[in-house]
Amino acid sequence: MSQIHRWGHLIDGRWSDAGAAGLRTRNPAHPQQSVGEYVAGTAAEAEQALAAARHAQRAWARVPPLERCAVVGRWLDAVQARGDAIAQATVCEQGKPLGEARGELAKSLAEARAMLGLALRGHGEVMPAARNGFRNLVLRRPRGVIIAVSPWNFPIMTPLRKIVPALVYGNAMVLKPSEFTPAAACIAADASRGVLPDGLLQLINGDGALGAALVASPGIDGISFTGSIATGRRIYAAAAGSLAELSLELGGKNAAIVHDTPDVDAALDAISGAAFAVCGQRCTAISRILVHRDLHRQVADGLIARARALRLGDGLLPGVTTGPLIHEAHRGKVAGMVERAVADGAELLTGGCEVRPESAPQGFFYAPTLLDRVDPASEIAREEVFGPVLTIQAFDDLDEALALANGVEHGLTAALFSQQHGVVQRFLDECETGMLHVNHGTVPDNHMPFGGIKHSGVGAFSSVGPSAIHFYTTEHSAYLA
Ligand code: NAD
Repeated sequence: MSQIHRWGHLIDGRWSDAGAAGLRTRNPAHPQQSVGEYVAGTAAEAEQALAAARHAQRAWARVPPLERCAVVGRWLDAVQARGDAIAQATVCEQGKPLGEARGELAKSLAEARAMLGLALRGHGEVMPAARNGFRNLVLRRPRGVIIAVSPWNFPIMTPLRKIVPALVYGNAMVLKPSEFTPAAACIAADASRGVLPDGLLQLINGDGALGAALVASPGIDGISFTGSIATGRRIYAAAAGSLAELSLELGGKNAAIVHDTPDVDAALDAISGAAFAVCGQRCTAISRILVHRDLHRQVADGLIARARALRLGDGLLPGVTTGPLIHEAHRGKVAGMVERAVADGAELLTGGCEVRPESAPQGFFYAPTLLDRVDPASEIAREEVFGPVLTIQAFDDLDEALALANGVEHGLTAALFSQQHGVVQRFLDECETGMLHVNHGTVPDNHMPFGGIKHSGVGAFSSVGPSAIHFYTTEHSAYLA
């Protein structure tokens, strides 16, 4: 660990004094190591940031969209130039291996650049008129001041997915990154100084209490939140005051349905990648295997081998495939869910215990875990684990597979492995998730809408992609006589 990160808040283009640290982050692989010290924001600072954002947004909305995209593009270049620092900070605060951290930044920048192109597509529509001599237009305007609240699992990708569409569509943003992983977002925000107009991007550090104060602020125009369903519900209620537009990207309980496949190994490689990357701490992580009974044994054996081949340890070391869980309480939650699953009758195939890798013996590591024959009504089959835990349930036919896949409150993403046209068609029509992947894992493309249905998402699919415009702009019907 090379450096301690010290940051205050970025308000109106200036960092506040980074003096009294109210928040400290620790390396989850080496909890004895301090990584960052951050000033904890107050309600007064939140108000100050909102006022500066309002002021900056009025001027930014008048900048032509092409120029807005050019300015945001220059900021992305400045972020990329600090790529090494962002990737290192991500490993040290979040714990993921360096390759994953670099991959996260590369994907964030690719998504952001795709967004620059999308923002230059048509911003409205010409509609037929009901009256002679009229011209009817549907116009779009920037929404205004957007609050962004992000989680700890993708410290740079989630903030960029919010900031870039907000700015290119003419909005200003106040970002509160996760209190566990603020460094990457602080470095990216710092890169905006002298590139973006002052006040357009504000960053305030703080925990859930500051997040709650921000989303309850009067006079805000939109809230873009990524995090747990429980917090999403609180934000939904808080937004009732301002009636701000909401974009909530929440948890998942994502299934892979292995119906039939000519290449079980390729399917299992895709599944284990999607299940264990970021140590299972991805909203789109596959966490349930629903397998046709004929393939049950082969799939279970193949997954055991893949789980045991993972190398846990300090993410800065070469060869490490899997980092720790984010903190001790989260490891306790994961372990508790696995223990209760076994008590409920699940069969533990591998894992199910804490691990002390030689490179990081104090870290919050948990063994990649496989649980077979889980009861569909049990907690482990229904609740998000957000850890390296995969459950297996066998089915006899597609009706049963779809009933199992859809029998949860979540609806984020799912994968199907099948060569049968009719099976694929039914999956596309009936699987209750926002994203549907056929014959591969759950990695989304950089330019596609991203989001969930049921309790996994509220509002337009908004992170990136063509539908971001629905959240980041308002709609206006105009009649020209
Ligand atoms: P979390 O809900 O605990 O916290 C997320 C953020 O909300 C943090 O910045 C936190 O400080 C803030 N917060 C907490 N209470 C708040 C309140 N009352 N009002 C406003 N802000 C508040 O989530 P987490 O533990 O950081 O992240 C893990 C969760 O995020 C998982 O459920 C995961 O599935 C979900 N997630 C979803 C997506 C998606 O795109 N659907 C992506 C990544 C993570």
